[in-house]
Amino acid sequence: MTVFKQIIDRKIPASIVYETENVLAFRDINPQAPVHIILITKKEIENLNYLNEEDKEIYGELLLAIPKIAEIEGIKDTGYRIISNTGRDSHQEVKHLHLHILGGRDLGSKILAD
Ligand code: AMP
Repeated sequence: MTVFKQIIDRKIPASIVYETENVLAFRDINPQAPVHIILITKKEIENLNYLNEEDKEIYGELLLAIPKIAEIEGIKDTGYRIISNTGRDSHQEVKHLHLHILGGRDLGSKILAD
């Protein structure tokens, strides 16, 4: 079971900022920016490679959550960056689909640090 599934099941604590029937968002434990939120599907999906047609509604809910969370976190107007690490080369650590929402400072013009 992934750490994110344990958060969904309330087996480990998390600082939850947003929740709907199908998605959950909480603060990253090791923030890389003043605002660093992890947004996940409650359904266990390894990463973007495993999306399927049957779950389109869930993916819509996931995307629609982004501006709502940005508003809650006060970064809607200043801007933010979305990252979804997928597979080996991205160094995806947690094998449960998630979007990083990063903001609260100037994130630089390069998507990658190096
Ligand atoms: P990734 O490399 O995209 O799989 O990133 C996983 C992210 O999950 C990292 O930024 C971690 O800091 C974060 N993370 C791991 N465990 C927890 C946790 N218990 N609560 C909040 N965030 C976590």
